[in-house]
Amino acid sequence: MLDEILHLFYPHVCAGCYTLLVDGEREICSKCTASFDRFSDADAADYAVKEVFRKTFPEDDLPQKAWALYRFHKNDRLQSIIHAMKYGGEHRLGKVFGRFLAELIQTGANAADRYDCIVPVPLHRLKAVERTYNQSEVIADSLAEFLGTDVRVDLVVRKKYTRSQTGLSPRERLGNVRDAFAATGKVMPENILLVDDVFTTGATVAAVMQSLRSAGVGNISLATIVFAA
Ligand SMILES: [Zn+2]
Repeated sequence: MLDEILHLFYPHVCAGCYTLLVDGEREICSKCTASFDRFSDADAADYAVKEVFRKTFPEDDLPQKAWALYRFHKNDRLQSIIHAMKYGGEHRLGKVFGRFLAELIQTGANAADRYDCIVPVPLHRLKAVERTYNQSEVIADSLAEFLGTDVRVDLVVRKKYTRSQTGLSPRERLGNVRDAFAATGKVMPENILLVDDVFTTGATVAAVMQSLRSAGVGNISLATIVFAA
């Protein structure tokens, strides 16, 4: 009821094109959703992400499994929606994308692929203040709700305030984030699903994976909304 009343005053519009949402649409209209370049299937996304690891971080272990929803294209609707999510404080978008990711994982995972917990890539606390929230954590919360597992933000911390990755080469990015993360010394679960909103060069997730591995985590999978490598 309250929701209906609020709707009269604050009608729900699509975060991509600002048209009114119809019944069954949540935050993003079906036209915008259809415009996103979705991976043909879970294996295609898994391959694309792992290929980046093979090329850029040949020394590192590959993620066990990599999940991604969309390919990035400059100036498409998805880009403006992701921008709104990251910098415009649009929490609800993180929730929607978390649900989409959960659907992908539920249909594409083997029964054996159970995750003990979900870990969002941490933001440095100063950056979290600037942006007021960690969008990867919002996605992780939503994902965890649908997968029926826990979110752990106490396993790894970001200890360095890294400058923005924008405009840096993969090598520079790796240098920028290397040693930026540290495991907290908690007892580590065996199977972790690491969540980052956008996968660009992989430098950030590679650094987080390194710190988790050095703390004894055996299996790390990866989930991301946008593959932008
Ligand atoms: Zn739209």
